[in-house]
Amino acid sequence: MSLSGVSRSSAVVLAYLMKTNQVSLDEALVLLRTAYPKANPNDGFVEQLQLYQAMGCTVDKTNPVYKQYRLQLLASQIQRKQYASKDLLSFLIEELQYTSSSGNKSYKCRKCRLSLFDVTSVIAHEPGSGQTSFKWHKQDLYEVEPINNYQCTSLFVEPVRWMLPLLEGTVDGKLPCPKCNGRLGSFNWAGMQCSCGKWVTPAFQIHKNRVDEILHNYVRPAAGSKLEPS
Ligand SMILES: [Zn+2]
Ligand SMILES: [Zn+2]
Repeated sequence: MSLSGVSRSSAVVLAYLMKTNQVSLDEALVLLRTAYPKANPNDGFVEQLQLYQAMGCTVDKTNPVYKQYRLQLLASQIQRKQYASKDLLSFLIEELQYTSSSGNKSYKCRKCRLSLFDVTSVIAHEPGSGQTSFKWHKQDLYEVEPINNYQCTSLFVEPVRWMLPLLEGTVDGKLPCPKCNGRLGSFNWAGMQCSCGKWVTPAFQIHKNRVDEILHNYVRPAAGSKLEPS
């Protein structure tokens, strides 16, 4: 059996063990290597198995973990080529928005009220360690703005349909509102740093103070809205 054959068949067996025995990837590897010491799935397969595990051993295209994985895969492809083709982007947007329009919240342009994206398009991240992640020191910042630097002042979203013409043929740029042309944020396939210090890759960043959060069935954003005053 060829090396890649060993790798692929190991991966298939591992996925089977994980699902039927309800064991983790690590446990499945131990089981497999006990029976078959040469078992050696390559890094790509291991990554896919980790994703499979994170999704509870099913493949769910609406799962945020899956979406993030697809996006990162595409980001590395686009970074290699240094541009994003229209075909690739259309495919991605099709796939990401597969069944993602059932959220209970959406976001509108604060200036012109155009509906921009649904809450299911928001990709949440664990806040970073604040300004220590930045290159400058605390002393340089506190007099300018005594804000909590651990807070995220932006939302990061998956690419949505109206962004398509903006993304084509480039790797980074601005994200103006498609209706009023007001500044909403920017994007970079190589990633960007959130105000909380966390790197997000790829990054489609929307400033929270440029959009209004709309709870469906409510006229105005309800109390407890995460929006900050502009
Ligand atoms: Zn953040
Ligand atoms: Zn607008």
